[in-house]
Amino acid sequence: MTDRSNLLADCGSCFGLCCVALPFAASTDFAVDKKAGQPCVNLRSDSRCGIHTRLREKGFQGCTVYDCFGAGQQVSQVTFGGRDWREDPATARRMFAVFPVMRQLHELLRYLTEALAMETPRGLHEELRSALDATERLTASDPETLVELDVAGHRAGVNELLLRASEAVRAGFRGKRKERRGADLMGARLKGADLRGANLRGALLVAADLRGADLRTADLIGADFRDADLRGADLTGALFLTQSQLDAARGDAATVLPASLTRPSHW
Ligand code: SF4
Repeated sequence: MTDRSNLLADCGSCFGLCCVALPFAASTDFAVDKKAGQPCVNLRSDSRCGIHTRLREKGFQGCTVYDCFGAGQQVSQVTFGGRDWREDPATARRMFAVFPVMRQLHELLRYLTEALAMETPRGLHEELRSALDATERLTASDPETLVELDVAGHRAGVNELLLRASEAVRAGFRGKRKERRGADLMGARLKGADLRGANLRGALLVAADLRGADLRTADLIGADFRDADLRGADLTGALFLTQSQLDAARGDAATVLPASLTRPSHW
């Protein structure tokens, strides 16, 4: 099985790709506009962030919740064999094109690894295993193959498997109130809500009041938790919840987390 540690960002082995390759729009998450391929003004020549310990106070909150799922070190050290984008413009252009593709593949590996640890029917387990192997093979491709890859198509196939795994695990939880896929719950008052086993895939939960909510075994893939209040909520066994989703939310010592995630330092 894929080692989950390979799916964690190792910034010391990356050439600051997320700080160069991606575009930013000035907003509450980023203090400045930046085009794709343009180095952030705070990126140092050693690929470290010059304001790493002051990101929130400097208006770069978005950087504190971004997760490349280990794609940065894969592109820097494996796909490009340790060549820095600063060495020549052609390498830089290709690296910046490959990075967003690799990031999606690593995100899928993260979810597939989690799904493989779930109690699912044997046939589905085998399909998940094949999808994980195929995705791992893709991450080892050369830059040209990665740039040409139909990553959206691959993602759609994997997503269908992840949904089936989620449904198998949540089969005991039924009811209309549990079906909140893609729901606009921005600022919703869900204090103490029973959301056990709910389908909250892609739900917009920005600034939602989820204090004391029961989110055990809820499917939270892609849910937007920015500034959501998770104080006292129970997230035991929540499906496909990532560290960056937690980092974007508020919580406290009473918030119960899945075993694989850690309590954000700002809680
Ligand atoms: S502020 Fe720091 S972490 Fe954010 S993009 Fe710029 S260099 Fe990277």
